[in-house]
Amino acid sequence: SRGSEFVVVANRLPVDRVAGEDGVPSWRRSPGGLVSAIAPVMRRREGTWVGWSGAADEELEPFDEDGMHLVPVRQSAEDVQLYYEGFSNATLWPLYHDVIAPPVYDRAMWDAYVRVNQRFADAVAKVAGKGAIVWVQDYQLQLVPQMLRELRPDLRIGFFLHIPFPPTELFMQLPWRRRILEGLLGADLVGFQLPGAAANFVRLCRQLLDAKTVKQDVVLDDRTVRARAFPISVDVDELRELIARPEVRRRAEEIREDLGGGTVLLGVDRLDYTKGITQRLQAFGELFSDGGLKPGEAVFAQIATPSRERVEQYQILRDQIEQQVGRINGEYGELGAPVIHYLHTSYDREELAALYLAADVMVVTPLRDGMNLVAKEYVACREDLHGALVLSEFAGAAPELRRGAFMVNPYDIDGLKETMLGAIHADRADQARRMRVMRKRVIEHDVDRWAQEFLSALEHTPEHVPA
Ligand code: UDP
Repeated sequence: SRGSEFVVVANRLPVDRVAGEDGVPSWRRSPGGLVSAIAPVMRRREGTWVGWSGAADEELEPFDEDGMHLVPVRQSAEDVQLYYEGFSNATLWPLYHDVIAPPVYDRAMWDAYVRVNQRFADAVAKVAGKGAIVWVQDYQLQLVPQMLRELRPDLRIGFFLHIPFPPTELFMQLPWRRRILEGLLGADLVGFQLPGAAANFVRLCRQLLDAKTVKQDVVLDDRTVRARAFPISVDVDELRELIARPEVRRRAEEIREDLGGGTVLLGVDRLDYTKGITQRLQAFGELFSDGGLKPGEAVFAQIATPSRERVEQYQILRDQIEQQVGRINGEYGELGAPVIHYLHTSYDREELAALYLAADVMVVTPLRDGMNLVAKEYVACREDLHGALVLSEFAGAAPELRRGAFMVNPYDIDGLKETMLGAIHADRADQARRMRVMRKRVIEHDVDRWAQEFLSALEHTPEHVPA
């Protein structure tokens, strides 16, 4: 066959397996903005998505689903542990998030990362048509651009990093720092969430590789690599459709009633040490001990989605949060009326939309976050212009939402308390003014625009003439 003219590569395929009625498994498109933003482009250009199915040791033939051609890449159980849970989530994740937790540096993990990246690059090289556009996603695949260029110099390669890119001083800890950097430089365009991350990358190329740089371009001997910022966003149309459903509105009312009538504060996060969950719960608890709040006046609903449960740091954090919730509820809750409702579970898009509509104050306090889509989803759902967003300065969404959000430094617990109180007591006019500013930004810059801007920048990089 001719091969695809558009290929997306990501750790996971854009589908989840669902058990059918008769026990026969089938596939369903994964929820979330990335897939819905890319799916239309895939259909238009007869694209292919290369990724892992999510089950170890599974040999799957390429298949078509939801208008997309999917090419599964096989992973052994051992590689999943070393490459995914190990190098991706115990090394790169903490290192790229300001070393909030100590990264693990382990050669066996690194070797697996190289091996798996090569497997992805080989798979793409096989399915990509001549001169195709290839879009590599995220920190699990940073070596793929270079590996792919070796195999297929005719391709135009873009890379997007969904998480932060750390300052030089931290990146230098990585024993394999040069290899990662050279891996990324295989791309024609390297995209980041924020200009600061792109600047970190360019500075690192200068310091570590002695590369020549001009503004945000890294000038190599034979070609130029562009580093640019493309802040990702949410699927505004999807959320609009959800909040228009009568059952979602009814559910939001029901949630408010169940929570007892006080001001509703909401947190929605994967259970991750980057999210600042303990900081926000500590601040909320102290508001009761200081007398800033009285039980019954406000409740906190914290959704903590199970995540990376085989990585030790995540087990430690879960125990910490559960102790903390128990302590605060033990002290300030009443029979049938805890002050914190903690839910260690994951919800579908409908329930999340209902939760956003039920919340008076959305509390988003990461210590470091690439973007934080939850903050933008809340804003996109509040067509009624009601509700307040408390937002960390360290979220990638901060520069876009700062004029309307109640901004906080989550390390400053007293500041966090004051800001949460300020958001709780904000009047309707102030809320509406702030929400309007934030909505304008999110509606104008939704995830479709993000994908279009990245791809158009990639297509405007110079074409290669392979030697
Ligand atoms: N999410 C979900 N169900 C849940 C919790 C979260 O579908 O129970 C979604 C949420 O709506 C958002 C995404 O997961 O789209 C989380 O993205 P975010 O950028 O906030 O954080 P990440 O988990 O990627 O670090």
